[in-house]
Amino acid sequence: MAPSQPLSTSTPPASPVVFESALAMQEQAIAWRHAGDDIGLVPTMGALHAGHDSLVSRARRENQRVIVSVFVNPKQFGPHEDFENYPRPFGQDRARLEALGVDAIFHPPVDQIYPPAFKTRVDPGPLGEVLEGKSRPGHFGGVLTVVLKLLNLTQPKRAYFGQKDFQQVVLVRQLVRDLALPVRIVVAPTVREPDGLAMSSRNAYLDPAQRQLAPIVRQAVTEAARAFTEGETDPANLERLTRERLAGAPGVEIDYVAVVDETTLSRPQRAVPGGVLAVAVKLGSTRLIDNVVLGAERL
Ligand code: AMP
Repeated sequence: MAPSQPLSTSTPPASPVVFESALAMQEQAIAWRHAGDDIGLVPTMGALHAGHDSLVSRARRENQRVIVSVFVNPKQFGPHEDFENYPRPFGQDRARLEALGVDAIFHPPVDQIYPPAFKTRVDPGPLGEVLEGKSRPGHFGGVLTVVLKLLNLTQPKRAYFGQKDFQQVVLVRQLVRDLALPVRIVVAPTVREPDGLAMSSRNAYLDPAQRQLAPIVRQAVTEAARAFTEGETDPANLERLTRERLAGAPGVEIDYVAVVDETTLSRPQRAVPGGVLAVAVKLGSTRLIDNVVLGAERL
């Protein structure tokens, strides 16, 4: 695929430069900024799929330089989570990013991000302790710590995140606002499989039977979002509808189903357009999350 037209006269390189050194990455980013180029950053953990591609393509359209970080961040995994087993097909990721015309891939080893003397940790505060944060203690502290470091190393004008991880977006926006970071956060819609399952690197863990069941998550939230469109605004009823639909699928274990305000993450008295219905389930040992913005999608 040919790279889309960059905004400036600077032409993206034929193949992306891979940086493993944090310092070399930062020096390159500073040089690009001094030359007047805007940088778009897409932070990822690799095992790239069409969801990541949509973020990268958007970054390509909106910036002179695009950096994609591929880093499986140990600090956002709990002690019993899948850090060791998380897929790391870097050769495939690199080919994919080359086809998308990115300028640089930041692929550091862990000690480039967390050298032995590393001590600082960003505290996400109370919004980091609900929903995902309740089930995954410490997760968002790990996320915000690495996001802040990646922003400092890559100097982006814009950073791109997916709506699929909607609580992550809320917390990254909070980080940017609270610490006055000079970056714009761009959020892109969730990319789905034809049967509605939100694309995720973790879908690879599903066995064929689980994979067949997995679209129930999207169906359940869609059904509740439809009920909202038809006039149901009681959060408890919307959550009940979602749970009932999920309960029909044996083997799907509900972690949470919650209608929340899109900025405070608290439960509203009444659901309103723009509010979010968020769901997390376990299918075997695989955790799946999804959400729908009420009143925002054609269902
Ligand atoms: P990850 O590699 O899972 O950490 O995801 C990197 C970025 O891609 C995050 O901002 C995710 O929200 C985003 N992302 C992951 N899956 C999707 C998807 N299906 N659609 C859109 N964005 C996604």
